[in-house]
Amino acid sequence: MEQIYLDNNSTTPMHEDVIAEMYKHMSETYGNPSSVHNMGQKAKVLMEEAREKIANLLGAKPSEIYFTSGGTEADNLAVKGAAYSGLKKNRNHIITSLIEHHAILESVHFLEKNGFTADYIGCDHDGIVSIEQLKKAIKPETSLVSVMMANNETGVIQPIKEMAAVCKEAGVVFHTDAVQAIGKIPVNVNDLGIDMLSLSGHKVYGPKGIGVLYIRKGTKITPLSHGGAHERRKRAGTENVVSIVGLAKAMEIAIGKIDQEQARMKELSEFFINEVQSKVPDVFLNGSVENRVKSTVNLSFLGVEGEAIILSLDIKGIAVSSGSACTSGSLEASHVLKAMDVDVLLAQGSIRFSMGKDTTKEQLEYTASVLPEIINRLREMSAAYKKPA
Ligand code: PLP
Repeated sequence: MEQIYLDNNSTTPMHEDVIAEMYKHMSETYGNPSSVHNMGQKAKVLMEEAREKIANLLGAKPSEIYFTSGGTEADNLAVKGAAYSGLKKNRNHIITSLIEHHAILESVHFLEKNGFTADYIGCDHDGIVSIEQLKKAIKPETSLVSVMMANNETGVIQPIKEMAAVCKEAGVVFHTDAVQAIGKIPVNVNDLGIDMLSLSGHKVYGPKGIGVLYIRKGTKITPLSHGGAHERRKRAGTENVVSIVGLAKAMEIAIGKIDQEQARMKELSEFFINEVQSKVPDVFLNGSVENRVKSTVNLSFLGVEGEAIILSLDIKGIAVSSGSACTSGSLEASHVLKAMDVDVLLAQGSIRFSMGKDTTKEQLEYTASVLPEIINRLREMSAAYKKPA
């Protein structure tokens, strides 16, 4: 049975060119970049070339790129690092949104338990975070605002440039979690006017366990890990050189194909949504139709549990997810859909189909063709679903 992978927002398969590049350096360039000898310096050169490549791809300076172990660590470092640094200016208030990834939300919850205060701004029914609420929430004690660039569950793209401008005017540091945006929409840190940005390798056909926190020159953060002087004293620990090389290669490939891939994704997602809605009644798209990373299609099937759909599709060889990967397994409706005020019955029946570079029209056609039987069967057993008259 062919496996159909429609869970690219959870993780992506590594690009073959990335594997080849990493494989070569795994055996050849194993020196520690902090070592002064030739082998160490070879690794350092390789790492600095990758840093420069990544900086260029983001419109940043190499000295503003800090390697981390992934998106989660980059988010933790940004939020907690800026919060603790803010204390030096008597600022102890953080603002984030209700639709963030748990890496941000849990970091802010941690800070709240440790003497900080926080506000969580909401979004509209399309999933777009409110700039008006942001403006109202900023106080003289606010040190940081963190709002994601593209949502992992719905793909909805946020007005980052406008929010960054509001924060700049108020003298507040602005961070964005761009884990689901990099390689899908153009990102230039200067055009956007942001102070910090997180990204992750395994969402762009690169390796797992590697990420970046971009920190604009002059932005102050308190380091969270202590040890050696790595990453200009902001993140101690021997750098994962081979994965850094893989990340740079993966970003170069993905960013180079954004226009072409997004046009393909727009076509594929429109085709898929039409196919499903024409075959199955009471199916609704969650999130803005237009303002979305088109590869993410979040559909709610009225009166059916999302988890039951996942398992039924899995039996057919189709991998999808409900809500974010980190919360799947729990039947709690997604916090993102709740914030969007999606009816709870619809929120519980939501499935995220996330397409990627290997997704084909035939795969989507097949997925849409097996859904009517699955949804009908589950609805027959569902007390929550009443057949249309
Ligand atoms: N932020 C967002 C928006 C994500 O989607 C994810 C992963 O699902 C992360 C952060 C965490 O990234 P990582 O898996 O590299 O820790």
